[in-house]
Amino acid sequence: MRTSIRTLLATVTILAHAGVTHAAAPIVDLHAHLFFYEGTGVSFFGSFSSPVLTDSSSSRLGAKANAQALENSGARIIIVALYAHPLFWSTCRDSIRKQIDAAEAFVTAHPDWAIARSAEEAARLVHAGKRILILSIEGASCVLETEEDLNEFIDRRGVRIVTPVHFTDDTIGGASFMPGIEILTNPIAALESLIAPHFDQFGARVHSYGLGKKGQWLVESLLKRGIWIDLAHTSDGTYSALTPWLERAKQPFLYTHTILRRYYRAERGVTPERLEKVRDTGGIVGLLPSEDMLAETKADPVYCPTVCTGSCDQGIPIFLTQYSEMAGIVGDAQSVMIGSDINAPLNFLGAACSAQEKQGYHGLSQYGQLAELWQAMRNFDLVPRDPNAWTERFLAVWSKVKPLQAPAQISPTAPSTKSRPGSG
Ligand SMILES: [Zn+2]
Repeated sequence: MRTSIRTLLATVTILAHAGVTHAAAPIVDLHAHLFFYEGTGVSFFGSFSSPVLTDSSSSRLGAKANAQALENSGARIIIVALYAHPLFWSTCRDSIRKQIDAAEAFVTAHPDWAIARSAEEAARLVHAGKRILILSIEGASCVLETEEDLNEFIDRRGVRIVTPVHFTDDTIGGASFMPGIEILTNPIAALESLIAPHFDQFGARVHSYGLGKKGQWLVESLLKRGIWIDLAHTSDGTYSALTPWLERAKQPFLYTHTILRRYYRAERGVTPERLEKVRDTGGIVGLLPSEDMLAETKADPVYCPTVCTGSCDQGIPIFLTQYSEMAGIVGDAQSVMIGSDINAPLNFLGAACSAQEKQGYHGLSQYGQLAELWQAMRNFDLVPRDPNAWTERFLAVWSKVKPLQAPAQISPTAPSTKSRPGSG
């Protein structure tokens, strides 16, 4: 009898897990560093081809994604963020090349996945049942600096989304300040801000340095190629400088991985005004599922598990709270997706409260569990019932990103005979 109860419980558990980690779950992840460790060459922390090395939601270092995790994740469209930090490895370009090589090797070995290089191609692949990767570069400095770089990475290797700035102001443009001590990732700007500080309505330190000379060239070159510009990490100055460019190109505004500034209290977070612009331009946003980034969020009690007795400030409920708020400003839940930022040195989502942890629930520690997050959103009807809603929305929005046309030459009207000076 006892055995049969145990068997029954085991079956229920297996079914429950099968339900939440099904490959067909329709997640769109706007920002994932899947091949991060291939790019760094640091094998100590694992890589995409190693077993997943994190076993706790608080693990910040160690490979959190591999082929099996992708299979289980339920992600159907993943924007692969290629990143190389100039301080950590001598040639950024080589790091990016290795990451693209790894992405190409993955899709060659897994024919149910493909790399899409246009919205049309993506739609064709997705509707044929494939799951797709789209390549993006995070931080253009030391990777996209010359016409030759654009020929290589954009035209030949197929990068389709660019996040121009990352942590530090450079000749491309101003990068948003991080909170607290992390402001030192942008040291010179931080120092200048100490001398002449500017704060926004949330008390977040902001700065006005916008697009640098190289940034102007880069943005124009990318827009002419129909590359989607990601506004994540932009300083308020860079955002202001980019806005008229993006409007000219009629691009839907995109934030691949962000959080609400009103909780995060740093320029890195997004303001309601910026989200309204996403709404007005028909754009999309990816919310970042990390307690490091969602800190200070007071969860709406409706999302707290019963065991937390109406109060929780961690885990999935704080994600759901920000998700609901963001979707409220952007206007619809189809336009707010996930920007996992997986493999960045950030924690994931743990238990909602200590009581839930005591019950043995430890939250999400690796990419394969993304489907649990999706399931939680489904449970609260935060995402549309139609399982294809995010995918179709993403494809439709991307299809609006078109190459910027050169402005029509304004040809001076030939003066008529009558108006010619001295003719009348
Ligand atoms: Zn980032």
